[in-house]
Amino acid sequence: MTTLFISDLHLDAGQPDIGEQFLSFLNSDAREADALYILGDLFEAWLGDDDPNPYYGEMKSAIREVVDAGVPVNFMHGNRDFMIGARFAGETGVSIIADPTVINLYGRDVVLCHGDALCTDDLPYQKMRAMTRDPEWQAMMLQKSIEERIAIAVKVRKESIARGESLSDEIMDVNQDSVIATLREHEVDTMLHGHTHRPAVHAVDLGGSIGTRIVLGDWYEHGSVVRWDESGPRLETMGR
Ligand code: MN
Repeated sequence: MTTLFISDLHLDAGQPDIGEQFLSFLNSDAREADALYILGDLFEAWLGDDDPNPYYGEMKSAIREVVDAGVPVNFMHGNRDFMIGARFAGETGVSIIADPTVINLYGRDVVLCHGDALCTDDLPYQKMRAMTRDPEWQAMMLQKSIEERIAIAVKVRKESIARGESLSDEIMDVNQDSVIATLREHEVDTMLHGHTHRPAVHAVDLGGSIGTRIVLGDWYEHGSVVRWDESGPRLETMGR
């Protein structure tokens, strides 16, 4: 049996190819899995679980069907969909897991994260991250109407593009010291994350031993998946 990992789909009604590939993945590979882990940025943007956008409804129903078929689905927040909450979890049946989380995969301990918290060279981003993950800030945002939240998101995005930093959070790579510190803190030698859109398997020098850092890719042009079974992990591109 196999455990599947995906991230950075950036689902958006304006990019229907990605959603179609996700739906077919849920109806095929995911049904055969021991479990599915979605490591953040499933959605391009998430302004609250009360968003009535029918596109999100379609995606939520498809996830629910996988859970109802007996496959556990775990979701970790990304930097685009960190507002996903308890209502979404209730509707889809996913378990929301902390960033980072250590799991045991067929005898091997692995730390899972989205990846943005490792990009410690980007100080303005880390400051913004701390603010937007604060439950008080989120509660304040959720008190606004969905229309107000959409207007705020559009404004923030425009300002970001105007500064030429529209993709800075994704383009910025992880900081090596942060990677090593995270592995040491959790006493593991293997890490799996997304966010940077740079799919690869890296060796990490842990001074005396070699660790592994596996990076999932985004779904803009192709799908990206890690299939992990008794023989270990395989990072694969899925055509469409
Ligand atoms: Mn991300």
